[in-house]
Amino acid sequence: SIVYLNGEYLPMEEAKISPMDRGFLFGDGIYEVIPSYNGKLVGFGPHIDRMNDGLSAIDIKFDYSHDQWRDIATQLSEKNGAGNLGIYFHVSRGADSKRNHAYPDNVPATVFAFSFEIPPEPIANRNQVKPYKVSTTQDLRWKRCNIKSTALLGNVMHYQHGHSEGNGETILYNERGEMTEGSAVNAYIVKDGKVITSPLDEQILPGITRLILLDILRKDGSIPVEERVVTMDELRTADEVWISSSSKEVAPVIEVDGQPVGDGSVGEVWEKAQSLFTANKYNY
Ligand code: PLP
Repeated sequence: SIVYLNGEYLPMEEAKISPMDRGFLFGDGIYEVIPSYNGKLVGFGPHIDRMNDGLSAIDIKFDYSHDQWRDIATQLSEKNGAGNLGIYFHVSRGADSKRNHAYPDNVPATVFAFSFEIPPEPIANRNQVKPYKVSTTQDLRWKRCNIKSTALLGNVMHYQHGHSEGNGETILYNERGEMTEGSAVNAYIVKDGKVITSPLDEQILPGITRLILLDILRKDGSIPVEERVVTMDELRTADEVWISSSSKEVAPVIEVDGQPVGDGSVGEVWEKAQSLFTANKYNY
């Protein structure tokens, strides 16, 4: 595939970065994944805003404009077949001459972007969608989960926990038994027709799919939405459970730790919500 590295487009095999890059040594960087279907991007503006928030939070001075990032996304899509792609952007603090923890002065950031295949847009149909089964485990990541850091070891280990149990995600809970999010997704329950999801704070990533979904649901008005603490007891007795991310959109979960969610089939509220998402997502 063709990738972008520090201003140039080149084949992946030719893209080289220094082993002294702080992204490699410390996971000292910020990243984004933006969905692109046949060249059409979903949530482009909010994705770039979130990346800029992350860069300021860790004091990496880097400012491509929205138009510069959009041009990279467009070029990567065109050069790589313009199918169903995740556009990956990565800015690390760059390569220093020494391995110092302190932020270096005058080291240029490393900018890397590539595209990878994502599943086709999910069909908003209860009988055709492939539902997820998930595990759960205590959230042992750091206290700044709102920063989309490239240091993903905590997320990787949590994902692996579910994977080792044959499941496609792992939903996490804090020491108070409150649901936070999944290892690479936001999480939701449906109870008595209402969609409920964890509030935005340092315990979760402010997902762009979450942002778009909640906005679409509120504007439509037929499904009530609540952002509040969800306990694991509520997760286990929910009528429906959903997860969301840029590559999955809104996905139904039919099993949590081997126990069926509701009656064990994909829910009607999910079908309505994903239909609304499909119909409106390109407005973001
Ligand atoms: N939470 C975590 C920990 C993630 O890594 C991701 C995305 O990869 C999400 C939530 C979903 O965010 P988005 O909808 O912006 O892809």
